Amino acid sequence: MSRVYNFSAGPSMLPEEVLKKASEQMLDYEGCGQSVAEMSHRSKEFETIIKDAEALLRELMSIPDNYKVLFLQGGASTQFAAIPMNFMNGSGKADFIITGQWAKKAFAEAQKYGDCKAVASSADKTFSYIPKTTKEDFRQDADYAYICLNNTIYGTVYKELPDTGDVTLIADISSCFLSEPLDVTKFGMVYGGAQKNVAPAGLTIAIIREDLLGNARDYCPTMLDYKIHADNASLYNTPPCYTIYICKLVLEWIKSLGGLEAMAERNRKKAEILYNFLDNSKMFKGTVVPEDRSLMNVPFVTDSEELNAKFIKEAKEAGFVNLKGHRSVGGMRASIYNAMPVEGVEKLVEFMTKFEKENS
Ligand SMILES: *Cc1c(COP(=O)(O)O)cnc(C)c1O
Repeated sequence: MSRVYNFSAGPSMLPEEVLKKASEQMLDYEGCGQSVAEMSHRSKEFETIIKDAEALLRELMSIPDNYKVLFLQGGASTQFAAIPMNFMNGSGKADFIITGQWAKKAFAEAQKYGDCKAVASSADKTFSYIPKTTKEDFRQDADYAYICLNNTIYGTVYKELPDTGDVTLIADISSCFLSEPLDVTKFGMVYGGAQKNVAPAGLTIAIIREDLLGNARDYCPTMLDYKIHADNASLYNTPPCYTIYICKLVLEWIKSLGGLEAMAERNRKKAEILYNFLDNSKMFKGTVVPEDRSLMNVPFVTDSEELNAKFIKEAKEAGFVNLKGHRSVGGMRASIYNAMPVEGVEKLVEFMTKFEKENS
């Protein structure tokens, strides 16, 4: 068996330890004679799995008791509609910072439900930076302010949260979930699709402050009403059981490595290796301003389309896959989520060094 280094932006690689454990338990989960993939979501075994997953997530992220943890489906994209239907319930206004395609899509979707304002955008420079804002930019009667914390496609991240005054902040954390400690109390809600850093595709996790629940619009579909899922402990209908099980294994893996502080240290180390190389290379360069660089998604380019294509092809042959950049940026992107070992980044940089020598 030979495994590649998978730099995909999502779905992305999972820790090998997790895949091994899942394969050991595939036919017979802890002596119950069946796989989690076959199990009733009302079974004792599965109830323990989902409870353990929630408890581990609460422990790792220090989620306070007045926040609900929901295991949902529909991906991050479904929440783009669910969020306004649940929370645009006072003035009917919401303010957005547009830092890339995912924020833009969330903004466009929310506009169907109320008065949405883009208070800042970095579209002028292909989203290569996080726009600066002040409290005054936000309408103080807005029901919420919305950001995308880590911009998967463009490789930017908020190092400091925007000051929104008294306006509740909601963030899409799909591509930085569990990558470093996050103060959940700064937000009314954070949420993300699991397929970047937490589990295979099919699971969306939402962490919501309790007092925000219960005011969804009348026409909000039952399945998109967060209160319904909160009241039913994410078991209103059949949840993505197997994905939640893998999520639990990933959370155990993170805990075994020392939790989010340790994860952050490992992620900083990996990012530093890659950014250091990019800053010193004459052929490759990063596309993001240094102060807003993501630890998770690292886009880079050469000055020739032909060279980009050659690099992506030869990298793939050498076992470094999914390095092609998003179609809206071009070039390359290395997504170095939690599961990417330090060794994977070191070997990639070795390969890039060799490629640069051979092609200049
Ligand atoms: C991948 C991604 C999405 C889209 O997620 P889906 O689960 O495919 O809907 C949204 N936001 C961010 C930040 C992402 O990285």
